[in-house]
Amino acid sequence: MRTASLSRLWQASQASTAAAISSNLRDLCYNAGRTHQEHLVNVFEGILLPCLEKRSHYKSDAYGALHSVQTQYNDHEKLSITDYFSGLGYLLAHQQDNRSDLIHLIKLTSIYAQWCRASARSLCVNPPTVVQLLWETQPNYGDSTSNRAPGRFSLSSSVVPGKGDGREAIRRMRVHVLSKIWPSIFDNPTPVQKAHAEAGVSYAYPTEELFGTPWGHCGESITFASMYTTMQAHVPLGTLALSVKTMTSTIPGVGVSPAEAIMHLHRLQDVVEVLRAAGAMRPMCLNCQHLADSVSARVEDYASVFTSRKAFDFETMAIRLCGRH
Ligand SMILES: [Zn+2]
Repeated sequence: MRTASLSRLWQASQASTAAAISSNLRDLCYNAGRTHQEHLVNVFEGILLPCLEKRSHYKSDAYGALHSVQTQYNDHEKLSITDYFSGLGYLLAHQQDNRSDLIHLIKLTSIYAQWCRASARSLCVNPPTVVQLLWETQPNYGDSTSNRAPGRFSLSSSVVPGKGDGREAIRRMRVHVLSKIWPSIFDNPTPVQKAHAEAGVSYAYPTEELFGTPWGHCGESITFASMYTTMQAHVPLGTLALSVKTMTSTIPGVGVSPAEAIMHLHRLQDVVEVLRAAGAMRPMCLNCQHLADSVSARVEDYASVFTSRKAFDFETMAIRLCGRH
């Protein structure tokens, strides 16, 4: 696999016109090396390019049915990608090696946030609120005879509201994909909605959006699906979700965004300090927690790990997480 340097990816994420964005995405697909090129080109030609051309976050046929591209994503042989921002996460996740260290993965997630913001402007929609990274925290975990490549990771985003269109169809497709591989029932109201109800927030149709997160909304709907056998085999994973708006907005008095600031940092503790000071990390929601718990997955939420008051030794942690010296 051929990887693009983070500084090159950051540079490319600054493009602001649809033509420049599609040209940068095309370069990334065609330079990815033989292993993934076919999949990346399918996602680019099938979703990303048509969306940029039509100024929409999804592609539909003449009858309004959602178009999706089925692609291999880590454990999943045919995962349906149905919207621009999920496709973008897929493409960026294939620009770095497995076994990349955590600081690399956080920077990549942050570049993804920047790219979402620039693309959303071109597509004339709001950007996703959150981008999410799921990764294997102990690359050498498990038996050496398994076919599983070590240190894998996935990226995805929450579903955008668009112009009020496509959102429910995209969520339905994500739930459809999950329900085929997850031994869990997707009850309504969802765990988040139940918690809202218990807190006294009443459900008033059609304001589901304000009532609580529906199934299929979170980035985890894609990343969990992409690592479903890994999760169900109880392999230790980490999750980190970042607010797109916070990561890409200029910090008052500093003049750069958190996304730009961390590109210049080389120590994990400094990167985490920026995320923490900016308030950029988002905890995993009850729906996603429920999905993880229902298969006894070992998913540690780094929004909590990094914000806990417990002092940690980052140097030791970086080595433990990444198997590096
Ligand atoms: Zn969630």
